[in-house]
Amino acid sequence: MDIIVQKFGGTSVTTKERRKLVVEKIKHSLNNNLIPVVVVSAMGRKGDPYATDTLLSMINEGFKTNNPKAMDFLMSCGEMISTVVLCNDLYDAGIRAMPLTGGQAGIITDAKFNNASVKEVNTSMLMELISQGIVPVVSGFQGATEKGEITTLGRGGSDTTASILGVALKAKEIDIFTDVDGIMTADPRIVQEAEVISKMNYLEVFQYADQGAKVIHPRAVDIAKKGSIPLKIKNTFNESDGTIIDSTDEESKKIIAGITYTQDRIQVVIKKANNEGNPMYKNLLNLLAKENISIDLINVFPEEKIFTISSKDKDSLCRVLGMEGIKYSLVEGCSNVALIGTGMRGIPGVMASIVEALNEEEIEILQSADSFMTIWCLVKTENVKRAINILHKKFM
Ligand code: ADP
Ligand code: MG
Repeated sequence: MDIIVQKFGGTSVTTKERRKLVVEKIKHSLNNNLIPVVVVSAMGRKGDPYATDTLLSMINEGFKTNNPKAMDFLMSCGEMISTVVLCNDLYDAGIRAMPLTGGQAGIITDAKFNNASVKEVNTSMLMELISQGIVPVVSGFQGATEKGEITTLGRGGSDTTASILGVALKAKEIDIFTDVDGIMTADPRIVQEAEVISKMNYLEVFQYADQGAKVIHPRAVDIAKKGSIPLKIKNTFNESDGTIIDSTDEESKKIIAGITYTQDRIQVVIKKANNEGNPMYKNLLNLLAKENISIDLINVFPEEKIFTISSKDKDSLCRVLGMEGIKYSLVEGCSNVALIGTGMRGIPGVMASIVEALNEEEIEILQSADSFMTIWCLVKTENVKRAINILHKKFM
C-alpha cells in the first residue's frame, strides 16, 4: 500500500467544523487504500489563541534574541496542540491516530535554533505506527537536535515537514491542503479573476513561491523535486482537483503561468560622478556581499550602479556605505512584480507588451530584468496591486 502525506495549514484546523472536513480528507485516503501520514500547522492566525504569533507575543524582544532555544520551545507548542486536537477529532470518527512532535517523528536537525536544517529522518517510529494501523499526526515546522532539543524550521516550516516526510517515506504524493483551490494565476486576494493552474512543474512553482506567491514555501518544493515526489495543492473545504506539481511540462503552455510580487523593496542608485576618487566604488557589490546584504535587480552601467534591497537591510546598507564614504540615493516603498512561466522562453516581445500595458495605465517602471522564466518590474508599492491586475488582464 502507498503512503500519502497530507498537510493541513493553519486555517484548515481552526474550528471543529473545519477539522471535520480534515477528518473527511484523511478518511478518503484510508478508504482508497492509502496510508495517510498527517502533518498539521498551528491553529489559525495572529490573535487566535494558539497561533504561533500569539504565543510569541507573550515574550519580549530581548528574551527572544538571547534565548533562541527557549523561543523554539514556545514556537513549537502551537503545532503540538493542533496534533492532539485533530487526533481527538479522528478518535470521534473511529480512526486510531497518534500525535507526534517533529522529533518523535524522527526529524533530526542541526542546532541552528529558529531556522534549523534537517540532517536526517529516522522513520522507524512512523513505520511502527503505520504497521499497527495507527495514523501518525505530526507537528509541522519542528524537529529536534541529536540531543533532543526542540528546533523549528523557519518560515513555511510545515510545508517543509510535509516534503521531508514525503521523501523519507517514498510517498506516492504530498498533498498540501489550504484555503484556496490550488496555485492560482495571481493571489486571489489581489486579483478577483485569478484562476487555478491545474499543472505546473517544480521549477516554476519554486520560482513563483520564491518571488512571493505564499501558497507554498519554496524550500518544500525544492525538497519534493529532489525526491521526485509529486506535490498537490488542494482546498480543504471542497473537492476541487487542485494543482499538480511534478517535473513534466504541460503541453499547451501559456506564455506566463502566474504573476506575483515581493514588497518592501528599496531601489539603491549609486552614481560614478558622485563618487569620483573613492576606490570603494569599484568594489561596491563585494562590500555588500561581505555584509550579508542580499541585492536584486542588479544593473551595472558605465556611469552608475542600480540595485534593490529588502527594507530590513536598509540600516546595514546605510551604515556600510556611510562608513566607506559612498554617496547614494534611495527610492523607498517599492515592490517587485514577477511574471513567471517557462512558456516565455524564446518568445519575443513579452517585455515590450508588459512595458506597453503599464505605460498605458501610467504606471512607472523603475527598473526591470528578465531571466529564462521570469520577468521582473519594479514599481512603487502604491501601484503594485493595479499593476498586477493590468498584467493579469493582458496575459491571462
Ligand atoms: P496555510 O495556512 O494553509 O499554509 P497560506 O496562507 O500559507 O495557507 O497559503 C494560502 C494563501 O496563499 C491563500 O489564502 C492565498 O491568499 C495566498 N496566495 C498568494 N499567492 C497565491 C497564488 N498565486 N495562488 C494561490 N494562493 C495564493
Ligand atoms: Mg502556508
